[in-house]
Amino acid sequence: MIPSHASVSAFSLQALRAARPLLWTRPDNAATGAGVAFTLADVQAAHDRFARFAPLLAQLFPELEAAAGVIESPLRDAAAMQQALGLPAASGRLWIKADHALPVAGSIKARGGIHEVLEFTEKLALAHGLVAPGDDYRKLGTPAARACFAQYQVAVGSTGNLGLSIGVIASALGFRAAVHMSADAKEWKKARLRARGVEVVEHPGDYEKAVAAGRRQVQADAHGYFVDDERSASLFLGYAAAALRLREQIAQAGIVVDAEHPLFVYLPCGVGGAPGGIAFGLSLLYGAHAHCFFAEPVQSPCFLLRMMAGHGQLPGVPVPPSVYDIGLTNQTEADGLAVPRASDLAYAAVGQSLAGVYTVADDTLYGDLARLHDSEGLRIEPSAAAGFSGPRQLLGSLAGQQWLRQRGLRPHLARATHLAWTTGGLYVPAEEYGRFLSRGQRLAAAPQAPTGAPSLHHSRRA
Ligand SMILES: *Cc1c(COP(=O)(O)O)cnc(C)c1O
Repeated sequence: MIPSHASVSAFSLQALRAARPLLWTRPDNAATGAGVAFTLADVQAAHDRFARFAPLLAQLFPELEAAAGVIESPLRDAAAMQQALGLPAASGRLWIKADHALPVAGSIKARGGIHEVLEFTEKLALAHGLVAPGDDYRKLGTPAARACFAQYQVAVGSTGNLGLSIGVIASALGFRAAVHMSADAKEWKKARLRARGVEVVEHPGDYEKAVAAGRRQVQADAHGYFVDDERSASLFLGYAAAALRLREQIAQAGIVVDAEHPLFVYLPCGVGGAPGGIAFGLSLLYGAHAHCFFAEPVQSPCFLLRMMAGHGQLPGVPVPPSVYDIGLTNQTEADGLAVPRASDLAYAAVGQSLAGVYTVADDTLYGDLARLHDSEGLRIEPSAAAGFSGPRQLLGSLAGQQWLRQRGLRPHLARATHLAWTTGGLYVPAEEYGRFLSRGQRLAAAPQAPTGAPSLHHSRRA
């Protein structure tokens, strides 16, 4: 029996409230509040801006010298992880987009955060006559340019990684930088920023409170610039530019994406800017052949709530909804994803095209973090492991199987590409990583996902 839509959403809401992992897929009806006017030209402009700054970045960051200033991560085959996850070859092939290794910021925030600071820098530099269009931007590394930038403050509110990215690039260019950190931000992230001369302001509250505090501080500063994670088009387009780079890597790897070769992309989601930008870019490039799923902690499913509200599935809950509205805590070890309310901008951009959203228990994140270490030798932070629950949820849950059938994708699974986006980890200190790993190895040793996440083996027997 196929459950009616109303009963599916009632079931989802029940699982959500109980913090049980689930997959929600987007119904075909139009969502309210969705629809945004970015174009491929906007995404290309962000990509080109990174290219103009590359020579300067190579000069500012020794770790970018070999790549001539291009901040990019590899697309990797993940056959060993595929086996560790028990994902059968008949269901397609697993790949990893390794943003956990992005230089400079050590997370996906290198894309949006750095792009926005570069855009601000470029506007200032043109306005002050430090460069003219077409110039070599290495001029912006000279003492005269730096003295100009030193008059300006760049500020941001963050759970940690956005602060790291903004703080590091802003201070490298010569700006004063202030990062407002939420209570869940990790100590090592604050220490790393302070070591670079960034002012770190600690707030006892959550991500929304840290953002609000940053916004207030900058309003009082005539030379202040605030990077607004909840509303920024520049951040969003910096993330979206990743799609152009990924398309090249996909082609180079010989991966085909078309109606008979679906691409499934699994993206860890906080406020929705990073995964939203990437999903938006991929939908521009691949249309309906790219199926993007967002991954959120069971206690912080803010984007899922926003999607449900947009489809009329959250009666009685205020719009835009917060995870507190349905009794969740927003407490998770996945600090990069600990966000109570989704970005309206991200929702407007992908609310009409996203394939679905699933939730993941913290224990599952740790288990997959350890599996990735033991199989592929990659070191990621817990937030970045959320993508690996994607194939498990899509292939192993009733909602996933139903969605695959409805979209006519079942016959093409054997030729499918499953792409898990690993979003952070490069700069996690060894001691902290050691704790993640031993917790994860204990959990991964258990024969089944201990959290109620569907098991692939079960569903295949069913
Ligand atoms: C910020 C972050 C994300 C998600 O980005 P949002 O723009 O907040 O949705 C995912 N993973 C990691 C490690 C992050 O730091």
